[in-house]
Amino acid sequence: MQEQEVKEQLKKDILDILAYCINCRFCFPSCPRFDITPGESYQGSSGITRSLYYAIKWGLDDKESLNELRDILYSCMTCKNCEVACKKLSTATKLMDAVEKGRQLLIEEMIGPMPEQKRALESLERYSNPYGMPPSERKDWIKGLGTPSFSKETEVLFYVGCTAPHDPAVDKMAKAVVKLLQQTKVKFGIIEDEICCGNPSLKMGEVLLFEDLREKNLNQFQELGVKHIVTLSPHCYDIFMNRYPEEAMKGVKVQHYTQFLADLIDQKKLAFKSKIEKKVTYQDPCYLGRHNDIYDAPRKVLHNIPGIKLVEFPQARIDSVCCGGGGGRMWADFESEIERIANLRVKEALEIGVEMIVTACPWCLINMIDGVKSVNVEDKLAVKDLAELCVEAL
Ligand code: SF4
Ligand code: SF4
Repeated sequence: MQEQEVKEQLKKDILDILAYCINCRFCFPSCPRFDITPGESYQGSSGITRSLYYAIKWGLDDKESLNELRDILYSCMTCKNCEVACKKLSTATKLMDAVEKGRQLLIEEMIGPMPEQKRALESLERYSNPYGMPPSERKDWIKGLGTPSFSKETEVLFYVGCTAPHDPAVDKMAKAVVKLLQQTKVKFGIIEDEICCGNPSLKMGEVLLFEDLREKNLNQFQELGVKHIVTLSPHCYDIFMNRYPEEAMKGVKVQHYTQFLADLIDQKKLAFKSKIEKKVTYQDPCYLGRHNDIYDAPRKVLHNIPGIKLVEFPQARIDSVCCGGGGGRMWADFESEIERIANLRVKEALEIGVEMIVTACPWCLINMIDGVKSVNVEDKLAVKDLAELCVEAL
């Protein structure tokens, strides 16, 4: 398709999706940006849909307005709260599709992404990861894991993702999953030359780059004969499950590591012996929960750790609140926000009287750790990934 045709198709698709929106604003209070952008009603979910709708309808072309539209559209964390609210209370508008296509359109118009996100995309293009990490550095990190490379005899591919080699907290998380896999005698392996699943490029609207990464991954999976993938990140899980063609992924089982651990518990291949007497809460990652309906597996694992008492957030499971890191937001901050969402979540955790926030996503982990530091409650509230907790309980 020619460039102009692509733009026209995107505009048509967006208007078709947003034709369902009746501007009732029932979705508005469900948007986490509602709490952090007071008085700026155009910033929330219905603001996004209206801004996008009228920008296309009226053919906005002045740079200032388009930059404003870009800021509104890229501030969304794609947490899907609004879409759930709209489905429950109103017209079931497919807001997430509108946001994604809106970003694609802004990339086509050379308005998107946010300036600070460009570096992540350049890195993806150059190194196939969004963190500017040369492949040699990544390989060194992989060697440090002490895990076998995936081969034809391997049952499970542990797909590590890009964040673990880059961030010390996520490095610990990945090593904890490796330790659990070693304990259970599962034949697993990793790909030394693993590349990004494509999530950041897709969520920032750079679809061609996403398609390129997707093709490379699919070729690699096929060449190696991968039949079972266990991911560290809910974002990689979501991409493999929902954004790689069904046909190409036929015969490949994909699980998030919490699902894999829950299965091992059911099969009596994993049990925890050490007691951990702690009151904890669980932060549902949006791309595990709302996007993929995985709420029970991580809770089952938690309940199997002796001594753990789970106290749910008032907004948990489908109503859970985003950590602030989805939809490309790990690479973009906005002046319109007076507070980080993770800080609000940390304050809520203190209110319900827990000693620890447990999560199961690299980006939730990073954001919650930052939140605890920024609220200055490191002595009162710990943050851990579920896999780390499991290792402690072995
Ligand atoms: S709830 Fe649905 S229909 Fe109502 S404003 Fe939000 S997106 Fe539009
Ligand atoms: S996806 Fe989340 S952050 Fe984005 S508009 Fe909807 S509720 Fe707000």
